[in-house]
Amino acid sequence: MSNRFTGQIVCITGGANGIGRGAAENFALEGAHVVITDMDAEKGSALAKAISENGGAASFIEHDVTSEDQWVSVMAAISKAHGRLDVLINNAGIGTTGLVHEMDHAAWRKMFAVNVDGVFLGTKHALPLMRKNAKGNIINVSSIAGIRSTPNFSGYCATKAAVKSFTKSTALECAQAKDGIRVNSIHPGIIDTAIWDTLMENMGAAPKEVPRGDVLTGMTADAVPMGRTGTIQEIVNGMLWLASEASSYMT
Ligand code: NAD
Repeated sequence: MSNRFTGQIVCITGGANGIGRGAAENFALEGAHVVITDMDAEKGSALAKAISENGGAASFIEHDVTSEDQWVSVMAAISKAHGRLDVLINNAGIGTTGLVHEMDHAAWRKMFAVNVDGVFLGTKHALPLMRKNAKGNIINVSSIAGIRSTPNFSGYCATKAAVKSFTKSTALECAQAKDGIRVNSIHPGIIDTAIWDTLMENMGAAPKEVPRGDVLTGMTADAVPMGRTGTIQEIVNGMLWLASEASSYMT
């Protein structure tokens, strides 16, 4: 077990499943106390328990990232328990797809609430706690969809481009403030997690008979230079690097 993050408090939103879950397990293995937050209380609390039973340190807070009141409570709980926050990974995200002229406005707004408002609110409420120690790292999970636009994915692409742009502005604000906080976004390619259950619904791609893995691999042909899907671990490796001193000149 490496100790790169010993003594550090790492908060991961959407940490109960998928990429966030992988991040929680890896940061705990590297010595951090991970604060897992998620709307999925069952899986989130089970994960925190499993990490603790494995010799790591973890806690779970049920949390809807779209609620500013809940963000205030999450930061108050972290401050009370640990007095500091070293890393925030704004990872919670959802995806819906469909042609623009058919897209439901409520679904569009919900996606913006989770993917964009959630990142804004997390950043807004983490900064004061991080600034107490003049140190911190914020990692926002955008997507390849925030860089490269695709038909049927207009709303998702727009949310992820917003995260990219918001991240850059926040990074500049922190750099100007000389507050010791670095802010970066990470842009995963295609990783087979539950988010694809909804993304695949209306994306207008392959017929239902085509196995899910083949559909995702097929999509990488255009979107991912290496032409394959990635693993959760390959994304988490980037998060570990961004949160570590190895990337100290990067914001
Ligand atoms: P996932 O569905 O496995 O995990 C998302 C997690 O977010 C779930 O645990 C879910 O309960 C939680 N969540 C959803 N709404 C929430 C809310 N309002 N408040 C708190 N938690 C909430 O999906 P994933 O692939 O692990 O996604 C993680 C992040 O990675 C997302 O931001 C996603 O957009 C991004 N991403 C994923 C891929 C991919 O191919 N899987 C690619 C690029 C970016």
